[in-house]
This record gives sequence, structure tokens and C-alpha cells, in this order.
Amino acid sequence: MKKLALHWKILIGMIVGIFFGLWMTSVDGGAKFVGNWINPFGNIFVKLLKLIAVPLIIASLVKGISDLKDISKFKNIGLRTIGIYIGTTVVAITIGLFLVNIAQPGEGISEETITKLTETYANSSSVQSKIQEATNQKNSGPLQFLVDMVPDNAMKAMSNNKAMLQVIFFTIFLGISMLLIGEKRAKPLKDFFDSLNEVVLKMVDLIMLFAPYAVFALLANVVVSSNDPDLLLALLKYAFTVVGGLLIMVIFYMILVSVFTKKNPLWFLKQLSPAQLLAFSTSSSAATLPVTMERVEEHIGVDKEVSSFVLPVGATINMDGTSLYQAVAAVFIAQALGFDLTFANQLTIILTALLASIGSAAVPGAGMVMLVIVLESVGFPADKLAIGLALIFAVDRPLDMCRTVINVTGDATVASLVAKSVGKLGEPNPKEWDDNYNEVK
Ligand code: ASP
Repeated sequence: MKKLALHWKILIGMIVGIFFGLWMTSVDGGAKFVGNWINPFGNIFVKLLKLIAVPLIIASLVKGISDLKDISKFKNIGLRTIGIYIGTTVVAITIGLFLVNIAQPGEGISEETITKLTETYANSSSVQSKIQEATNQKNSGPLQFLVDMVPDNAMKAMSNNKAMLQVIFFTIFLGISMLLIGEKRAKPLKDFFDSLNEVVLKMVDLIMLFAPYAVFALLANVVVSSNDPDLLLALLKYAFTVVGGLLIMVIFYMILVSVFTKKNPLWFLKQLSPAQLLAFSTSSSAATLPVTMERVEEHIGVDKEVSSFVLPVGATINMDGTSLYQAVAAVFIAQALGFDLTFANQLTIILTALLASIGSAAVPGAGMVMLVIVLESVGFPADKLAIGLALIFAVDRPLDMCRTVINVTGDATVASLVAKSVGKLGEPNPKEWDDNYNEVK
């Protein structure tokens, strides 16, 4: 019998998880049961993915750079990557602004709903901590992000999943120095990293065997911990505006893929789908990164010289879904609270949402922290920030799930575009977890 493709298994896991979660919400003590006995398996899965992220980035980036043989190529890839990342993000924000100005989702929100949302969330610790986090970020100087990118202790950087850019910095430094000592002398180190790279990719295959069950657990937990359905309904127009914008982004990526790489965009989406489904289930592009790398390299055919740099950098700085959401959310909040935004304000949103999405961490809920900075940039009163965030808090998790899918799809699209432009988009070569199993069984 033909084996069911991984993305179908994951999708089935997700759907069963949603129904199980719904059923558990109606059972006495169901939510607690899911929290105690189901959710831990989802957490273990996310931890396993995070566990291999740093070794994978290091091994694959060293391999990518040492395969280059020529440093100027790296500069080429780097500049194109950053350029296209900025371009796609500006497109995303513009689409968001355009839609929110047409749909005006904030106009229909009644005073009563605003009061209810404010009472429920404005003083909640989650909203307050997001505002606090944003204040901490804002208080640092303009070049702080460059200072933060340089680690003062390589081991410390590698032991911190949030220090992904520091790890990338160290690894590029290492890889370039390896090129400079010449192929012969760098060979032992290169062989070591090549082998490590294969091992970690095998670990991804093994972890993915567990994916369908893990997404069941993750989604069941999302459902039992979701908010009052009445509040969700009041925000439906806003949520649809965000989701509509995200769907337009998918079409935009498909056009890019088809025009610039000449690959069939539907085939592209199918190859990427396990990573997208995980992005949806985990709400974290950082946790999804190992799977994104595996899919883009083995199933889409992007050479490691490109993917090893473009994808980890993209997971941290390229967030098209997040920036689109920030634009829509900022304008929605302004509309609902009667705060007028001029055209110049909207242009400011484009710039700050671009910077904010670069600064957002690739973890659940991070986009909301930077939204505070976007709101402040257009002069939104500080005393109303908590009310503003309270307005969108109820639907933030589902929208986070959706925007993370777009963040990951954007990274993969740009990786394919850059690869094609430097002649590094080849044929896919998928590997299975049991390719060598017979030899060791
Ligand atoms: N959860 C998103 C990500 O990991 C970031 C965000 O928009 O909150 O890509």
C-alpha cells in the first residue's frame, strides 16, 4: 500500500486535535486533562525541534560557506537576500494597509465590545508584560541591534535559542576563516561539519515521525485554552482582514516562484507543506526552522550554500506575515478607538512595521510586542496602549498561527529565488529516516 504523505498525516493529526479539543471543552475537567496529559507531548516535540536548531544552523552554514570556494559569492547571496527580504516585507505591509483602509474593521466595533475587551484583557499580565517588553526594547540605542548581533562568548550564544543571529555571526566568521586557511588545512573541520550536518538532518527525519501526534496535542491544547467565543466573533472582521491579507501574500509568493524559478507553485507549496503545517501548529518560525531547512534543501532542491544562510537569517529577520498583521492591527486599533491616522502616519507604519518585524523574535506572540512600538511611532497615547492591545488579544493566537505560516513560506520563497538567481536551484533529493536502516538493524 502506498504510504500516506507526511503532510496528510500531519493534517489529519491537526483536525483530530481540533475536534478532540472541542469535545474536551464540553467535558467537565477536560481542559485540565488536556493540559496535564496531552499538551506535554506537544511541548516535547517543540523542544526536540529547538534542540537541534543550533547544531543544524552551525553545521549547515559551515558546510554552505566552505562549499562556496569563493567569498565574493557569499557577498552576492547576502546582499540579494537582504534586498529581497526587505522588498517582500514592504509589499506585505502595503497589502495590510490597503486592506485595512478599505475594510475599516475598526469602525464597526461597539463601545460595549470595547469595554468588555478592555475589562477582560487590559490589566492582564500578558498584555502588561508585552508593553513592558516593548519599553525595554525601545530604550536601547539605534545601533544596539548591531551590538547584540556580536556574541562575546560563543558557547553562551550557542546555549541560547534567542541568540540565533549571534550564532549565525559566529558561524559565518568561522566559515570564512576556514576558506582563508585553504582547502587542505580546513578539510578535517569541513569533514566533521559535513558529517554533523547529515546527522542533524537525520534527526529532523526522526523527529518528524512524531509530528502527526504532536500537532494533535498542540492543537487540542490551543482549542481548550482559547478565549470566549463571543469575543472572537466581535473581532471577526478584523481577523478576516488579516487572514485575507495573508492569503494575498500566498498568491504573491506563488507568482514569484512561478515567474522567477519557473517551478510549479502548487508543487512548491506541496513540498513545503509539512513545514507550513508545523508553523501553524507551533506558532514559531524558530521551532519550525529545522523542518523548513530540510524541506527547502531536500524536497525543493535549493543548494545548501544558499539555504544555510537565507533560512536561519530569514527566521529571525524576515516576517512578512507578522509585519502585515502589525499594519492591520495598528490601524484597526486606531479606528476602533477613534484615533485619526494621517497619510504620513500610514507611511510611518510602513517603516516601523518593517523594522519591528525584523526585531520580532521568531516565537509565539512576539509580533504583538513590536506592535506597541508601531503604535507609539504614530503618536498613539501611551495610556491607551493597554486598551489597544486588549482589543486584539482575544484573536491573537489564531492569527499568530496564520502569520507564522506566511513567515515560513516567505523565507522558503526567498531562498528559492536567491538560489535560482545564483544558479543554485537544483533537483530535489529527499531522504527518508530509514534510508540506511537495513545496514544497522
Ligand atoms: N510567531 C511568529 C513567528 O514565530 C512571530 C509573531 O508574529 O508573533 O514567526
